[in-house]
Amino acid sequence: MLQVVWFKRDLRTADHAPLTAASAAGPVICIYVVEPNYWRLADTSDRQWQFVRESLLDLDTQLTALGGRLTLYHGPTSLALKAIYETYGPFALHSHEETGNLWTYERDRAIARWCRQNRIGWQQYKQFGIQRGSQNQRGEWQQWRNQWLHEPRRVMATPTFAPCSIGTAAARAPAIIKHDTYSCPQRQRGGRSEAEALLRSFLNQRGEHYRGSLSRTNRAAQFGSRLSAHLAYGTLSLRELVDALSRTQTTASGRWLKSLRSFESRLWWHCHFIQKLESQPAIERCAQITPLEQLPVCEDYARLAIWQHGQTGWPMVDAAMRYLHHHGWVNFRMRAMLVSVGTHTLGLPWQKVAAWLAGQFVDYEPGIHYPQVQMQSGLSWNPVLRIYNPTTQARQLDPLGVFIRRWVPELKELPDEWLIEPWKLPNNLRQRYGLGTNNTYPNPVVDLEQANRKRKAAIVAIEQREGIARPNDHRERRHSLKPQAAPAATDSQQLALF
Ligand SMILES: Cc1cc2nc3c(=O)[nH]c(=O)nc-3n(C[C@H](O)[C@H](O)[C@H](O)COP(=O)(O)OP(=O)(O)OC[C@H]3O[C@@H](n4cnc5c(N)ncnc54)[C@H](O)[C@@H]3O)c2cc1C
Repeated sequence: MLQVVWFKRDLRTADHAPLTAASAAGPVICIYVVEPNYWRLADTSDRQWQFVRESLLDLDTQLTALGGRLTLYHGPTSLALKAIYETYGPFALHSHEETGNLWTYERDRAIARWCRQNRIGWQQYKQFGIQRGSQNQRGEWQQWRNQWLHEPRRVMATPTFAPCSIGTAAARAPAIIKHDTYSCPQRQRGGRSEAEALLRSFLNQRGEHYRGSLSRTNRAAQFGSRLSAHLAYGTLSLRELVDALSRTQTTASGRWLKSLRSFESRLWWHCHFIQKLESQPAIERCAQITPLEQLPVCEDYARLAIWQHGQTGWPMVDAAMRYLHHHGWVNFRMRAMLVSVGTHTLGLPWQKVAAWLAGQFVDYEPGIHYPQVQMQSGLSWNPVLRIYNPTTQARQLDPLGVFIRRWVPELKELPDEWLIEPWKLPNNLRQRYGLGTNNTYPNPVVDLEQANRKRKAAIVAIEQREGIARPNDHRERRHSLKPQAAPAATDSQQLALF
């Protein structure tokens, strides 16, 4: 019987369980579906598509080396499968499990129904340490995840490829899928060879300074792994990464070993967060602490726009947002600060904040993104309610103002003492430091400390009224058994890592 491999967010041939299983079972065709309705969503963007497109072209090259081709189908996946069915008759479908946004979740449910109705066997394989539909976030899950990561892999038989007459060649992938507000000149490139080069440079060289560099705006891009987009689109498998990491750890010591352990803990968080969305797909739209949906929100589109376009008047926030526009990536701390300022300080609806940032991130991974946005907005069952102060962040992370001056050039003439809080500059000095009439850098729309205090009081008031008690660290820790390979930690302990 014909074996159809449906490539989703797993754009590689190595350590690819669906391709391995299909190759052992019969003639194979490999498809990727470009779904217009997916690419119309607010959380998707052309910058993500460009990364996917490069990865598809690379995947086609990998498949060609095996004697096959990648076929692209433009339209809904249901129509792609129907076309295959009508052309070739019954087939077996293979893909990885996907913990995606609500749209792909509903799509996959519809595909499962279609497969049942047409007696098509759809086999889905794991690509992360995620248990399908499981509610178990603690001990058993951690042990199971670590076992799964180290399970021996099946060797792929040389596939026999069948010709495919539906769809088009990968080279016909659209050059542009939608128009983004910002071009992204420093976007990371997609493709397997890019992933391999990043992994090599990280484990041989850059990784030594990983620990201690992640929060620093001028070091994170260089010393972080920068593998997030490759994990999100599967040009590199998590298990390949863990294997390579384990090999490197056996010979590492001192600073290197500490950094590698710290990196390993991030890979644990990767699955931990995705498991949250897998267990509760609705958290893309609904607050985890439901009563906090009563928090007042500011529906003022002008206010949303100043945050989106890096015009808030808080230099660290604007620098981080503009850096993100330009690179399609920013480090963890800046992501957390952008969410905190958007939802807590400016009171914007968290769903709008989440969708805008998702679209800006080339590495958009719904299972990490939505739980993180909820956590940074105070809406998750996290023991710590943290509201970021961008002035404090700037003092800690950019004391010389290098990051701010680079990304907020309107302020480049300002001496250090005024750079972080330019609204405090006396009027008689504005002209001297380039903040005269031609300079459009705005003052903040709200008083930061007052707004943050008000927000915290509103959260506490709802929690008291509704009798909500956030778990404290002690209670959480009692529930979590130590996993085999990486330290168990609560969500709030995770904040301390960055
Ligand atoms: C509001 C918010 C939204 C985020 N959205 C995403 C997202 O859409 N996609 C995404 O990959 N990461 C997201 N992160 C987590 C983190 O910021 C990025 O993974 C990291 O900055 C990517 O850079 P890197 O590959 O150099 O990471 P490294 O520090 O080298 O980490 C290695 C890998 O571990 C995973 N990882 C790292 N940090 C975390 C974390 N805190 N939680 C879960 N997994 C983690 C990622 O897969 C990452 O590639 C988000 C964080 C916040 C605060």
